[in-house]
Amino acid sequence: MRKEEKRARRNANAVKRRIALWLTLLTVLLTILLLVYLLVISDAVANKTARSELIRVLRENAAHVVMRDGRLQVGGDFRYSYGSITALIYSRGEALLAGQIPVGYGATLPFENGVIRTVGEETKYLVLDLWVPSDWENGVWLRGITVAPDLVAVKSNMVFWTMLTLPLFAILAAYGAYWISCRAFRPLSRIHDAAEAINEARDLKGRIGLPAGEDEFSRLAATFDGMFERLERSFEAEKRFASDAAHELRTPVAVIKGACEYAARYGEGETPDERRETMEMIHRQANRMARLTEGLLHMTRMEQGSEGGELCRLDLGAEVSAICAETYARDTHLSVRTEGDVFVCADRDLLTRLLCNLIGNAIKYSDPPEHAAVTVTVERGEGEALLAVSDSGIGIPPEAHERIWQRFTRLDTARADGESTGLGLAIVRGIAERFGGYMTLESEVGVGSTFTLHLPLL
Ligand code: ADP
Repeated sequence: MRKEEKRARRNANAVKRRIALWLTLLTVLLTILLLVYLLVISDAVANKTARSELIRVLRENAAHVVMRDGRLQVGGDFRYSYGSITALIYSRGEALLAGQIPVGYGATLPFENGVIRTVGEETKYLVLDLWVPSDWENGVWLRGITVAPDLVAVKSNMVFWTMLTLPLFAILAAYGAYWISCRAFRPLSRIHDAAEAINEARDLKGRIGLPAGEDEFSRLAATFDGMFERLERSFEAEKRFASDAAHELRTPVAVIKGACEYAARYGEGETPDERRETMEMIHRQANRMARLTEGLLHMTRMEQGSEGGELCRLDLGAEVSAICAETYARDTHLSVRTEGDVFVCADRDLLTRLLCNLIGNAIKYSDPPEHAAVTVTVERGEGEALLAVSDSGIGIPPEAHERIWQRFTRLDTARADGESTGLGLAIVRGIAERFGGYMTLESEVGVGSTFTLHLPLL
């Protein structure tokens, strides 16, 4: 295992340990907080319960104290004792009429209607008096006595057990958190391992391949896989481009080299006509190389976005008319029809190159080129501007409609020999995309072709 790898694994473990530590601390803190809360509220809850019980029992008992035949009668449902509550009946003069004072209760307390009081030294009692009016001596006192809840023992028990089980909780929390984070981090390790393998093997074909899901790791892995996919494609395209370019340049270089070697060896005996022919051949091949390198340069700049200036608002009809008039002034076979007020976002130089490439092809691939009839039209389509270049040339077979946009594609090598680089339409498509538009082609073999640039209207 390499040094960085070890460090990465150590760091990942450090994160897991940190998560475990945090969760443990949180568990301990929460348990302590819960304990404190319970200790605080338990008194209040127990007191409240005892008081409401006392009130309820005494009120119910009051309903069973009645006058019958001029005498005070206590109904059978009167509860002298209920749980820890003891009920007593006193006369107006505070003499005990019925009930038994609980053992241990020694307090002498004057009667006070409807107020709960706490009395007693060691054992605390809650005492509630109720005045029950009646015809007998105007009424009687009901007294309820109950032992005030004492939670000291319960509380110390609670603290004891909590303190005893807390370390166990902490260990469980630490172990659980560590286990969960190990499981949660497993996909991340997989992502790391896959990325590492791709990096080491320098093979962009590898993928992380986590099963699709909605969680963060699945999405991260999918993003990485998408990135590897795009990288692989652009890497392949670069490789293809370099090998295509080398292949294209090899032929003219070989021809020039051969001609030079021949001239060096047999030049002495050559007639002036033969020498001129050799020189013309070298010149043609040099021109071809120049066109190729120029085309490649345009393409590279286009891909980098550095070709042409800032895009600006152009009147497409006016621009196309001007470019055609300037470039093809003496060409009688070119007819231009433009609609006014078709505004687009474009660059004049790039538009000129696009148009020249299309018109050049239309002439080159007409039969014969001298009789080419080319029409350039600018019109407003449905929400878009259309610039079409039509010819009545040799046409393009349907199976090649997609292929001709790829660089170095040449269908009719015999016809375009020397002139042709196979880069023209790739550059045209690049320019169309740069303008935010796209190209379409309609063509029939032997009838002609129409290349159309579609641009968003301004
Ligand atoms: P080049 O013209 O340098 O070969 P292009 O990229 O401009 O490269 O064109 C690619 C190929 O598409 C040409 O070789 C030719 O076979 C075909 N092509 C382009 N324009 C036309 C056209 N107007 N009519 C017929 N074929 C065409």
